[in-house]
Amino acid sequence: MSKFRILDYINQTVVAVKRFNEGEILKLYELGYRNFGFNRDSDLLNFNLDNNINKHFIGYLQTNKVKKIINQIDFLHSLSTQRLCQEIQKHRIDPLNCFIQVNLTNESTKNGISINELADFLLNIKKYDKINIVGLMTIGHPDDLELTKEAFKTLNSLKETYDLNYTSMGMSSDWEIAINNKADFIRIGTKLKEVI
Ligand SMILES: *Cc1c(COP(=O)(O)O)cnc(C)c1O
Repeated sequence: MSKFRILDYINQTVVAVKRFNEGEILKLYELGYRNFGFNRDSDLLNFNLDNNINKHFIGYLQTNKVKKIINQIDFLHSLSTQRLCQEIQKHRIDPLNCFIQVNLTNESTKNGISINELADFLLNIKKYDKINIVGLMTIGHPDDLELTKEAFKTLNSLKETYDLNYTSMGMSSDWEIAINNKADFIRIGTKLKEVI
């Protein structure tokens, strides 16, 4: 019997690098994973596999770190402020694929814009030619799967409303809910760690 692999369910699995050591990363690469996700600039700067991988920044990006890392990544999953847009515009060389992070679970500690700010946000960032919006990202509720399900359903319908390409949603605890709601990218660490 073949081993459980999230790749068998979805091609655009972003491996959350923070959960793995170097040997495990190589093993994931050998298993076929090509999308790696970072939430720390230091992890990113030390990371070298080959030119066929995509590097995703999935965590909160401080504006003072932008200059250092912005030309080393292929996707940013956490765009949520004008200030960050301005910083990217200033330092990025070619257009960067970005997901706008939307907070759909009303947790005040969580980053992301609210649903009623989304239309204006999309309009306001049209002027930045270094930002290429590819979709929307959200993070589920840490312990309420019903709220998470609602959030993922909403994210998918927002994607359609605004005619965007992708959603980024689902982590180890809720990736199946994400796939049931047509996730395009899921971001997995812990669950993969268990099986390699
Ligand atoms: C760490 C992280 C993940 C993966 O989390 P797991 O629970 O280990 O799968 C996904 N998204 C973001 C933004 C993360 O920081």
